[in-house]
Amino acid sequence: MTEKSLTEAFDKKYKTITQNIAAAAQKAGKSYEDIILLAATKTVDVDIINHAINSGIDYIGENRVQEFLSKYESYAPVHKHFIGHLQTNKVKDIIDKVELIHSVHSYKLALEISKQAVKKNLTANILLEVNIGNESSKSGFLYQEVEDMVQKIAQLEGIKIKGLMAIPPICENAQQNRPYFAKMKKLFIDIAAKKIDNSSMDILSMGMSDDYEVAISEGANMVRIGSSLFGRRNYNI
Ligand SMILES: *Cc1c(COP(=O)(O)O)cnc(C)c1O
Repeated sequence: MTEKSLTEAFDKKYKTITQNIAAAAQKAGKSYEDIILLAATKTVDVDIINHAINSGIDYIGENRVQEFLSKYESYAPVHKHFIGHLQTNKVKDIIDKVELIHSVHSYKLALEISKQAVKKNLTANILLEVNIGNESSKSGFLYQEVEDMVQKIAQLEGIKIKGLMAIPPICENAQQNRPYFAKMKKLFIDIAAKKIDNSSMDILSMGMSDDYEVAISEGANMVRIGSSLFGRRNYNI
């Protein structure tokens, strides 16, 4: 596709998504402004990303450290998040370049984030990734260990826990993920009620192209959307 047709395709999809988010938010007793739309920009060219930013996208999330770094200097001003699987040895490359890491999936990774944050004299904002479907193919903390992990990780220097993130199992019908989203919301509320020092349950990051409306109806306040904004990728990451 030419760049013009890509940007036109984006404009149309963006409009639809914002309408759908507004409708889903309203049904959940919220408004559009209560939901943060994060554009998942893996494999998307920076020109298209910048068109999206100029059209109103305020948050982007990248999945791969190398790809993120190669685009980093070229993004228009935007909130930059890391949403992909993060290897311990790559933490130092992104820690001062992202506002939020969604995908903290192990204590070991949290330790390294703490170490690098202290070294750079900054506070790293993180979400704990929950393996809500208990899938062996996915990383993330198990449901039953999340609260203990919040307690433990919140004590690390240079880290602030801002909430939780999840990717439920792949399914044919988005409604099938409703129970997983509901479980996440319950966990989020239960942990918030504990008022654990150095943590705040502000962000519940869940819902992607195929299920963001269901996620919002179950309490997501940040949705990560890629293909429904930018078109189907021809490969999966
Ligand atoms: C790619 C990706 C998304 C967006 O997925 P789509 O189905 O394309 O909307 C969201 N979250 C993460 C972690 C991703 O890797």
